[in-house]
Parts: sequence; C-alpha cells; structure tokens
Amino acid sequence: MSSPTPLLSRWRRIDSVATVLWWSLSAICQANATLQWLSPTAELADRLSPGALIYSPGSDGFTQATSRWSVYEAPNISLVVVPSVENDVAETVKYANQNNLPFIAVSGGHGAIITESRVQNGIEIWMNQLNTVEIDGYVARVDGGALTKTVSHALWQAGKQTVLASGDIKTIDRTCDLWWAMQGAGHNFGIVTSVSVKIYDIQYPDWAYEMFTFTGDKVEGLFDNLNVHLLRNGWPPVNIVNFAIFKRVPEIDVKPIIYLWIFQEGATSVDSAYSKPFHHLGPSATGVGSGTYLDVPRWLGWDSDAPSCQNSGLANTRFPIDIRSYNVQAVRKAYDLFTDVTQKIPELNGSRFLFEGYSLQGVKAVPGESTAYAFREDNLLVAPVISWTPSGPDIARKATDFGKRLRQIIYEGTGRSELHSYVNYAFGDETPQNWYGYERQRQQRLLGLKNNYDPDRKFSFYAPIA
Ligand SMILES: Cc1cc2nc3c(=O)[nH]c(=O)nc-3n(C[C@H](O)[C@H](O)[C@H](O)COP(=O)(O)OP(=O)(O)OC[C@H]3O[C@@H](n4cnc5c(N)ncnc54)[C@H](O)[C@@H]3O)c2cc1C
Repeated sequence: MSSPTPLLSRWRRIDSVATVLWWSLSAICQANATLQWLSPTAELADRLSPGALIYSPGSDGFTQATSRWSVYEAPNISLVVVPSVENDVAETVKYANQNNLPFIAVSGGHGAIITESRVQNGIEIWMNQLNTVEIDGYVARVDGGALTKTVSHALWQAGKQTVLASGDIKTIDRTCDLWWAMQGAGHNFGIVTSVSVKIYDIQYPDWAYEMFTFTGDKVEGLFDNLNVHLLRNGWPPVNIVNFAIFKRVPEIDVKPIIYLWIFQEGATSVDSAYSKPFHHLGPSATGVGSGTYLDVPRWLGWDSDAPSCQNSGLANTRFPIDIRSYNVQAVRKAYDLFTDVTQKIPELNGSRFLFEGYSLQGVKAVPGESTAYAFREDNLLVAPVISWTPSGPDIARKATDFGKRLRQIIYEGTGRSELHSYVNYAFGDETPQNWYGYERQRQQRLLGLKNNYDPDRKFSFYAPIA
C-alpha cells in the first residue's frame, strides 16, 4: 500500500453524472476475454464507436462479462456494454440516464460487497477493452480497465514501478476538492477511464520469501512473534511484508493450519532476524524462494491462475477489520471459533481467515486529513473470507453469522469503540463511518462533494457515502 502522487486528473460532467478518470485498484487476477458482437441494442449501438461491444443475456460474452469472484448478492445485469474508447463510457452513462436505468462499471469483477445487489436490471459497463498501459518517460498512462497484473508486468518490463494516481479531461491538483475524495472514496464519484501515474526506476529487483506451516497450537507464539519482530510498534521494516492464513488442509492436520509468508524486498534470502523467531516455534513445514516482485502473487497462491482467484461460482464474503496490533487472546478465540464452525458446518470448510501486514512508512507519511482514506493509524488488515456453494438462504445466513462473529471477536480484542473496515474488502453491512472514518468533518466533506458531483446518487452501489 503506497500513497498516491497526483500528476494529472481530469473529469467530465455528463448531464448530472460525473465520469471521472482516475485510478483502477483492480485485483491480481485477469479475465481472458474473447469478445464478440451479439445482439446489439440499435439505439445505443449507434452512439458507440465501431470497436464497442454490446452483450445480451444468453450470449457467451454476457456470461463472461458478468462472471464474478463472488456470486453472493451480485448486481442484476440486463445488458453489458464493452467500451472501446473513453467516449463510449460517457455515451453509455447518458443512455442509461435517459432510460432511467442503473449502471455499474466492472473491471476485474472482484468486487464482493453486498451493496452492489442494489443494481437491478442494470447496464454493466465492462472496462475490459480499456486496458492499455502506455509508458512515456516517468509517466505511465493506465486505462481504467487495466488490471493489476497488466500494469505491474508492463512497468516491470520497462524497469519501472508505480505509485498510483490519476488522469483525465479536466486537470485537477491537490487543491481540487474532488482530488481529496478520489483518494479513498473514488468509486462514489465516477468511472475511471484512464489514469496518469508517476513512475520510478526499479531500485530493488530482487524479492525473497520464507513460508511456514504451523499447527493450531502455535497461534499464541506466532502472533506474539508477529507483534514483536515484524510489526515493531507500528513501524515494521520498510522492505518486509507478512501474510498469514487460517485454512483447513485435511492432509496436514484435522484442525485448521496456519500458513505464514514473510516477503523481503531487495534480498535473495529473507534476513534471519525476521525469520528465526518463527523457526524457533517449530513449524511443521517450511519453504524458501527468490525471484522478482512479479513472482510474489504466485508464491502466495494468489496469482491469476490460482484457484483462489477464479470465478468458480462460489459465494465469497469478507468481514474486514483494521487493527493496530494483534491481541493474541482474541486471535486464539477466533481460531477456536473458526475450527469449531468449519467442522460443524462442512459447507463452510473452504473458508479462510487472512492476516495481512504491509510496510507502512509510505502510508503514514501522508497526512491523514489530506485524503479521504481515513485509517492511516492502523497497522494490520484482518479479514475472514467465508466461502460456500450457494444453495439457499439458510447457508447464506449461517455464513454471514460466522463472518460477523469472527470479526466481532477481533473487534472486541482491540478495546476500541470504532470499527475500521477496509472498503475494498467490505461485506456491505458496515456504515459510512466504518468505511470512511468517524470524524464529523470528514463525513461532512464527503457528503458535500457527493451532493455536488453526484446529486442523483448514480454512483452508490459500492460502499455508498449516502
Ligand atoms: C483474490 C483477491 C485478491 C485481492 N487482493 C487485494 C489486494 O491485494 N489489495 C487490495 O487493496 N484489494 C484486494 N482485493 C480487493 C479488491 O481490490 C476489490 O475487491 C476491488 O474492488 C476489485 O476491483 P475489480 O475491478 O476487480 O472489481 P469490480 O467488481 O470490477 O469493481 C469493484 C467496484 O469498483 C467499481 N469500478 C470498477 N472499475 C471502475 C472504474 N474504472 N472506475 C470507477 N469505478 C470502477 C465497480 O463499479 C464496483 O463497484 C482482492 C480481491 C480478491 C478477490
């Protein structure tokens, strides 16, 4: 997670709806689209460029465009438009407004928040064709539908790295009110068709990892070690990332096991100062490797080919909470509940529990009031991912209850009165305070901008401000 550096940001107003060209925080996986022209809606088709596509229900293209990582409470789509140029996005928005139809942009289809189910009979604007990355010196222009893998691979090939920022028709800078809101709540204000980002020469091409497998009896030692040796009072080493998961792997243990990865930038092996305390705990298995930044998703098992990244018809819901450090007793309690429920309700035994620890110095260097992202004082992202095969409301209710209970345990362990919930992982039952911060001034500022730029609440399907 790094802070955005604004270069250019442009926006266009279409009737009462802003089409904002901004950054695309797409997930790691990529869709391999085979586009085809099927069943064009004549009036809309006339307004689009020759390269734009329209898919109707029943076509392969429609199925592909509407397939999602989580099928639970997904948007209800009756037509898909695949823009080929920026103006196609604008024309589709105008068409939707004129016909009083809801619309929603889709890039990677990894959005899993249940507020998206408020889209009924909507038009999906699939950004799949707006996916190029152009590099010009120290600026990259990234289309709004480009997924993370496309961007990181294109930049790496050119010897560059990024800090995400924005670009579009009207140039804005740090003094523009919308710029503040776009950094943390941008999906409430428009559709990103492109972004210009400042890029930098790669400084440290090497990456290394160590991976550990632990049985459940090691929970206390492991999370205590994470607090002491990697989190370091909220100032983790700048080149270290750690990631842990509870997961059932019956071939290894009858109870859920814990995988831990430690990644180090700028090294061909992980410094033993970070890994040694975990070896001392007695893992059941270990692994090491080295490569480049592009290898990291594969090491983690979250690359575009990995099962966890596929649109496989599962319901996947997350219940995120940002915290400052691990309350080891709370993590133990959560582990025990995770063990109990995934044993008693086999339909939920594919669920995972994620514990993510990134380097934070770039995040904390940005003043909290300078962007709409509110929770810079937090240090860790924790989230149960509850997965099941949809088979009716009963299992959905149990799954939701399970996720909420796990989050509640961690929340109570923080001793805080505020629940901070990372918007990219949100379940959808959280409040705007949980997503965008509790400060009255922050909420009022967001609301004022919403009233100004989106008075008709056209962009209100993903963690809406109001
Ligand atoms: C396997 C996996 C790994 C993940 N890893 C990470 C991670 O490492 N870090 C992280 O922060 N998050 C991560 N996420 C969460 C991810 O960032 C969010 O789910 C994000 O919303 C996915 O974006 P998308 O384009 O794939 O989803 P979509 O469902 O296509 O879009 C999500 C929301 O963004 C809107 N949107 C899409 N494109 C645009 C656009 N061009 N302009 C404006 N709005 C748009 C959509 O309308 C929708 O409301 C991960 C998710 C999964 C499933």
